Amino acid sequence: MGENNANTIGSCPVCNREMWKDCHVDRHHFTPKCRGGKESEYVHKVCHNKIHSIWTEKELEKEFNDPEKVRTHPEIQKFIKFVCKKDPDYYDKNDIHKRKK
Ligand SMILES: [Zn+2]
Ligand SMILES: [Zn+2]
Repeated sequence: MGENNANTIGSCPVCNREMWKDCHVDRHHFTPKCRGGKESEYVHKVCHNKIHSIWTEKELEKEFNDPEKVRTHPEIQKFIKFVCKKDPDYYDKNDIHKRKK
C-alpha cells in the first residue's frame, strides 16, 4: 500500500508477514516434488530455518507438508509471536555464519 508495493512477493505462508524481493527470503517445498508437489514457495529465510530446525525432511514430507499444519504447531506459534515484532528483513545472523563454512 506504499510505493514499495511493487517489491512485495506476497505474504509468508509461515508467519503471514509480507515478503519483499530484496529482503531475506528462501524457497521451500511444502510438498516435495517426488510427492507431486507444485513449485516451491517463498518463505522468509528466518521462517525457513525455523521449519527445518523443528522437523526433519522426513517429518516435513510426511506430516508438515502443508502451511496450515505447520502453523498449528506450538513451536511455530511461539516463533510467529516472536518474529512478528521483528523487521520484515529480520534473520538470524548466526545462521549466515554457519552457512559460510
Ligand atoms: Zn515468514
Ligand atoms: Zn525448505
